[in-house]
Amino acid sequence: MNLSSLGFFRSLRKDNHQFAVIGLGRFGRSVCSTLNRLGYEVLATDIDEKRVSEALNDEIVGHALQLDSTESGALKEAGIFEFDTVIIAIGNYIQESIITTLNVKEGGVPHVVAKASSEVHQKLLKRVGADHVVFPEYEAGCALARTLTKPSILDRFDLDPDNSIVEVIVPDEFHGKTVAELQLRNRYGLNLLAVSQDGKFKINPEPNRRLERGSAMVVIGCNKDINRLPI
Ligand code: ATP
Repeated sequence: MNLSSLGFFRSLRKDNHQFAVIGLGRFGRSVCSTLNRLGYEVLATDIDEKRVSEALNDEIVGHALQLDSTESGALKEAGIFEFDTVIIAIGNYIQESIITTLNVKEGGVPHVVAKASSEVHQKLLKRVGADHVVFPEYEAGCALARTLTKPSILDRFDLDPDNSIVEVIVPDEFHGKTVAELQLRNRYGLNLLAVSQDGKFKINPEPNRRLERGSAMVVIGCNKDINRLPI
């Protein structure tokens, strides 16, 4: 997530409990099953009858319909335009994905999330009115490259292009030192948010807490400073 997505996420209704998902490929199915598991009501649609039956048989959705989403009338009849949020999970069929996004926006759905499979696809989706575009293959590729080049960074949350919160393995040279002795703020410009112990995190660790090799710590700061850590 970045600041440009903030407006979209803030505009989502907190009391919304229903979602429509168009396209039951691997991505669409994962969105459906997660929403379903979290207790939300999901209406899924696909042009392929077999995928619709599979979704119902696997119980990843409460409701599923076969329809061609490039036909605006079919979407209207299925009640898709009544949803507050619709996810268009058609990555590999660009024309269908673009027409569907256009249909859903023209149908008056306030929050439309669409999956892109390339940069051009991403641009086109935005042009036809998608409110939020995800590009999972690109995002996963970036995350993998980062993990491979900095294996000590276990997890990362980019606040903006320059600042992040990262979970890192405690560097060997920090072993046995207390939080106060480390002087992370003075030496690295970083703030320590949490330290792991016995599989749990201690938030705002006390200055006299000692860090141990192999445990994890969470820091916030600018990327340049994070890169100076001896990890
Ligand atoms: P993958 O499954 O490879 O991760 P994906 O999740 O983006 O990719 P796609 O291969 O793009 O999935 O397929 C998404 C689904 O969209 C398919 O099940 C396909 O049948 C469905 N679909 C394609 N065209 C239409 C359409 N016009 N109306 C409704 N569903 C469609």
